Amino acid sequence: MVRTRFAPSPTGPLHLGHAYSALTAFDFAQTAGGTFLLRIEDTDFARCKPEWETQIYDDLHWLGVTWPAPARRQSDHLGSYDVALDQLGAAELLYPCACNRSDIRAAASAPQGETPLTGPDGIVYPGTCRHRAFRDRRPGDALRLNMAKAIASIADVGSLNWTDIGAMVPGTVHLAPDTLINTVGDVVLARRLVGTAAYHLAVTLDDAAQSITHVVRGADLIEVTQIHVLLQALLGLPTPIYLHHRLITDEAGKRLAKRDDARALHTYRDQGLEPSQIRGLLAL
Ligand code: GLU
Repeated sequence: MVRTRFAPSPTGPLHLGHAYSALTAFDFAQTAGGTFLLRIEDTDFARCKPEWETQIYDDLHWLGVTWPAPARRQSDHLGSYDVALDQLGAAELLYPCACNRSDIRAAASAPQGETPLTGPDGIVYPGTCRHRAFRDRRPGDALRLNMAKAIASIADVGSLNWTDIGAMVPGTVHLAPDTLINTVGDVVLARRLVGTAAYHLAVTLDDAAQSITHVVRGADLIEVTQIHVLLQALLGLPTPIYLHHRLITDEAGKRLAKRDDARALHTYRDQGLEPSQIRGLLAL
């Protein structure tokens, strides 16, 4: 049975790009006679606001998207993320890290002041705290995945792959361990200061908890899918099928941002547009 999801973070208004993602996932489930689920990804307490969550429900209902209530809210499941963190920590695959952004930039630029390498999460972590042990973590530390150790811990890393049915050439994609170690690096799985699970861990655990069969999301997330597939392997979770869809851009070809209010769904609603016209704008 097909199960898709839309997983917005309540950090700003939904825009046309979100509508495209939600409608694509919803239509996919409808066509297959499956289920579409909504998940509120609200573990970033500093940026998530209840009013944005309310606006998400309103905008989606207006679009005609429906889901079984209640939507899963990540903030209601923090304990399940801690269990996974403890499991990865017990296997010595996590280490505590107290570096802030400027520490990381300084360490990654040294010694010649070269431009630091960046990956999907920003600067590839230079490894300053990698020597620290999980058991020596202190309140306020982030937890990072030791990527090289994580890859080495998998008996048959060559067998890790996933299917992307949204790609230009749909098919099987193989995990590239070297890329993960060198150009993605030791990703954060629990945030500094607040200690809550970060995106990569929460999204992976929730896709499994909600038995998602098809992850429908934007092509901007292609790069992080291999992190999620690796986490699935480390945690013994199934790998769903991925459908990375095209991105909705502005006239200049730039991806829409949450602060781009001109393309916010509430702006179109205020202008009197109908949901069918939004579908028209998106060629859906
Ligand atoms: N909360 C993420 C976002 O809003 C969802 C990403 C995903 O679909 O995996 O970008």
